[in-house]
Amino acid sequence: MPRIAPTLYEFVELGNGDYLKIVEACLRIFDRQDWLRENRARARIKVLVDKIGIDAFRAQVEEELEGDWVRERDFSLDQILFEPNEEESAPDRPETYARPGGEDREFSRFLESNVAPQRQTGFSTVEVKITRGDLDPDQLRGLGQVMRDYTGLSARTTVQQNLVLRWVRDESVYEVWRALSELGLGDAGADELTDVVSCPGTDSCKLGITSSMGLSQAIQERLVQLELDDELTRRIHVKMSGCPNGCGQHHIANIGFYGASLKVGEHTIPAYIAHLGGTYEGGDVRYGQRLKARLPAKRVPDAVERWVRFYESDRVHGEEFNAFVDRVGTTEFESRVKDLTLPMQFSLENMNNFIDWNRNGPFEVQRGEGECAV
Ligand code: SF4
Repeated sequence: MPRIAPTLYEFVELGNGDYLKIVEACLRIFDRQDWLRENRARARIKVLVDKIGIDAFRAQVEEELEGDWVRERDFSLDQILFEPNEEESAPDRPETYARPGGEDREFSRFLESNVAPQRQTGFSTVEVKITRGDLDPDQLRGLGQVMRDYTGLSARTTVQQNLVLRWVRDESVYEVWRALSELGLGDAGADELTDVVSCPGTDSCKLGITSSMGLSQAIQERLVQLELDDELTRRIHVKMSGCPNGCGQHHIANIGFYGASLKVGEHTIPAYIAHLGGTYEGGDVRYGQRLKARLPAKRVPDAVERWVRFYESDRVHGEEFNAFVDRVGTTEFESRVKDLTLPMQFSLENMNNFIDWNRNGPFEVQRGEGECAV
């Protein structure tokens, strides 16, 4: 299970070699913990820190740093530091460029949610919303062309499964948006409500219980259909993982889910457990509160819709989603979806609930040995 990492040191200098020394000291300590190798699922540094506490771990690091290896090694950065000068390859100011004609609402929304001024005057960053982190070959080649034409070849991937183009000339933002739109990548709303994040789940992860990507698609489609335009509502983040390990970051979402199962006689229903009120923004990390109820996977989009509607109708002026969760309490959220959590009998009528999203056959839990075993 994920947890919030305790602080080992508030600040560590890079230039004097301290950063590399401390990282290596941590690795050396971890490498000596043979007891962690007995169970692959426990072979994690977090298990060690949980057991001895961060203060004892820090004491071990200090002791490790007294070892001969520190004096014997070269921790200078001269040979290893890679500092590309991106500014050097930034595009020149274009002499001619396209401009939006009249009122272009879609572009205005894109500007509002996906474009930010870069620190260097005259440049913008453009965040490309990549649904479920999926790109087809044409989109990837197209993105390469956009980068060659407009960015000086600088981009960053984000933990929200998006791509940020950098060094885009302010004058070129409209052309970039048009080029992205032709690739099906010009959607506004990056990092907003409809920018749902999920791990691969059973699509490709052997540890997955449920199809988190399938659920992600279903929730995203529902949220787009709802056409929710309220500024506070748009700030809600929805994320899901295909199992409790949390690669889809469900625990820090405002509305998060992780995959589980519900046994009904001989049959099994793909299900999700919800977390509400998590956050990761502004340096403030908080895990969401886990709800008691298990929701059948096919009913999760209904639950999300009800909770969002509940928030919109009952919040006080200017109240953010997490503040609302804190004020009304998770029990109130549970009661809003009580009918959705009730178990059902297997029958022709509700057979759909026994099949996971994006699947055709009956659901069963098939977990293998994963690479990560988080
Ligand atoms: S191990 Fe990670 S990627 Fe795999 S299903 Fe679980 S949360 Fe998702």
